[in-house]
Amino acid sequence: MSEGRFIPIEPPPNTKDRVFPKDGSKEIWVWQPEGDLIGTVVFVHGLWDNVRTCLRGKPYAKFKASMQTDGVPLPQQFEKSGLKATFVVPEAEVNSDTTGVEVVWRDLRQLLQAAEATGPVVALSHSAGYRTVAWWLHDPDLVHVSLIDSMYADLSEQYLAWIDRRDVGHPPHTIDLIGAGNLPHSYFKRMSGKYRGETWTEKAVPPRFVPTASVPDPLQAKVLWVDVPGYNHMKLVGGNELIPALLRRAEVALRTAGRPPQGAAQQAPAPRKPTVFEATSGDDGKDDAPAHHVVDNPLKSKLKDVPDLARMAALHDLVLRKGIAREEAVKAVQGALNQLGAKLKGTGVYDADTERAARDFQQRWNRQPAGQGRHLSPDGRIGQQTVLALDQALLDPSFGAAGRLPAAAAPSVEQINKPAPAEPGQYRLATDSAKRFSYAEGAAELSAPINSKTKKRAGPPAPPGNYHRFEDPPQVGEPHDPRRPNGTETELILDGTEWPSYSGPGGDPEVAGYGKGHSSVPVHPLLVEPLKAMLAALIEEGERLDDESMKRVLVRSGWRSVKEDGVLFLSQLRSRIEEDRTSKKPVGYGKLSFPKDLEEAARGNLRSDKARDDFLRDLAKHEGWNAELANSLWEHARSTKAPGGASPHESGLVVDIDFPYVNIDVDENTHETTTTVQWHNISRHNNKQARFSGAGMWLATHAAKFGFSSYNASIEIWHQEWLNWKGTAADPHR
Ligand SMILES: [Zn+2]
Repeated sequence: MSEGRFIPIEPPPNTKDRVFPKDGSKEIWVWQPEGDLIGTVVFVHGLWDNVRTCLRGKPYAKFKASMQTDGVPLPQQFEKSGLKATFVVPEAEVNSDTTGVEVVWRDLRQLLQAAEATGPVVALSHSAGYRTVAWWLHDPDLVHVSLIDSMYADLSEQYLAWIDRRDVGHPPHTIDLIGAGNLPHSYFKRMSGKYRGETWTEKAVPPRFVPTASVPDPLQAKVLWVDVPGYNHMKLVGGNELIPALLRRAEVALRTAGRPPQGAAQQAPAPRKPTVFEATSGDDGKDDAPAHHVVDNPLKSKLKDVPDLARMAALHDLVLRKGIAREEAVKAVQGALNQLGAKLKGTGVYDADTERAARDFQQRWNRQPAGQGRHLSPDGRIGQQTVLALDQALLDPSFGAAGRLPAAAAPSVEQINKPAPAEPGQYRLATDSAKRFSYAEGAAELSAPINSKTKKRAGPPAPPGNYHRFEDPPQVGEPHDPRRPNGTETELILDGTEWPSYSGPGGDPEVAGYGKGHSSVPVHPLLVEPLKAMLAALIEEGERLDDESMKRVLVRSGWRSVKEDGVLFLSQLRSRIEEDRTSKKPVGYGKLSFPKDLEEAARGNLRSDKARDDFLRDLAKHEGWNAELANSLWEHARSTKAPGGASPHESGLVVDIDFPYVNIDVDENTHETTTTVQWHNISRHNNKQARFSGAGMWLATHAAKFGFSSYNASIEIWHQEWLNWKGTAADPHR
């Protein structure tokens, strides 16, 4: 098999609540088999294992000689399954057992980005790995979970809720429970009681999945229970039998997830039932013409003569995407896109330009009246729905009347004079005063924001496309608005206990945040509808204007617990002290350090006047500190990060929306300007320019109509608080 590769990672700094595992290895292993990939499988190891040991199939090797097993290396087991998916093995907890502090990857999306993998996703968890996977249960890309002797008490409600959850347009979730422990079995009983007729039990390893009259396809059962008496905890993952068998279910789950949602399929003209027949040499008289397979397919344009495309249109078993080796099909698609206005070299290589042209086509299709019946997700890939749309567009002379596709690649951010398309929209932005930029993928090295501390690029690269830059965004937001859901400023008006607060999603499946392909962060259930309405309007206008900053909006953070805010506040206090050391105008606490014995207090709930005063009095008593320095440090830290208990995010009614924007830097000495496109990454010093973007301008203009407000657009235009909670279920006085 081809070797997988190791991608080095840089974990976030250790805090009390988050520690990179000692003996963990700072890398992700990724392997992609040859062929068309249908999604991603992530394997999460258990305790006393790390990326390297679990890959070798000799878990425990480093830690407990007495427990060593001679297992088969994981890559070999993956290959044995024959599953065509990206395989990812990330670092996970090594020592922490049930505390969760060592969970490395708390955000599945970040893991996928780092591993350059895409959904849908299946997670295989061994032993304590279930604690990592629990963090991912809100991600819409996660469709199937295999818990290999891996489900213990404390997170069962979350898994049960996940299994119950059904999102419109998403496939149902499926789960495997392996291990004969009493506890897992009790969950299984709860599940099987609920999903009668949708569960499947196996009594041995490997499971055989032999159909019966009542369950025609065990591979599709909602719940699999593998009851193995006398099983060996390590042999389950090293035995080269269970994992390849489980991956058969994973494959079914990934394939189901890859199909278009049922609604879309109904709207599209139904493809005729495919029939495959052998074509012999026909009437053309060339007796020696080779026989070839022909698929009866619904295509009508010249695309119908390309076997791969014909197959895709009929069977939906192939998706053309970047890097795929299907030269003939890719060439035909490039030709079709060119005919519709793109300027691609018909190389047969599915490169970045092709991806971009495909996305442009998808977006244009969605805007056309003809597009109404079939919405294409603008992902730059060619699947069944896009092939059918391309076919239809080629036959429709009026398609493309709205304008040619933009030229594929200019190797930089370039100001362009192309006017934005003009069709009606309800929440519009006037772009007369805006400059328009085009950003092509060739400039990727400029695209990711740079972390000022590590000097490394942080966050995903900005997407190519067109961006507006406005002149004069309005100042909106009122820090003293009594409708703000929480916050230190509002203390001045009402007592803190009167504000809505939210304890987080817990086991309640309905409260998982605003997902649907954007992101998945926990928010109060009441926020889901208004947030969706606002983002849908923003994205719609972004599509009308063809502005990437608006089309790509992403909910980056929502609800945070007091504890999480506390940890962030403590690190803010520390970095303020640190910065003072090198400041040109030092306050004077730079020579001090933050007292160890006050760390817990600093992480605590500091919302009330009393808690804050007590904390500051304590700090002032420490050697070298005094009341003045303590107060100054407090104000300094609080100006960028609210203390635990005082952040509006704790209400669950507040989100931070990330978006890419055009950033122009002028060098102080040479006066040279550098134009880049980057995500603002919720970093306050990016706000100044992020406000000039399409998304920033739109939020300043229209967010209030949806009940949202940034408390101060000149500090954080992306921080949006929902003000209409009074009298709702979130209102503590209702
Ligand atoms: Zn915020």
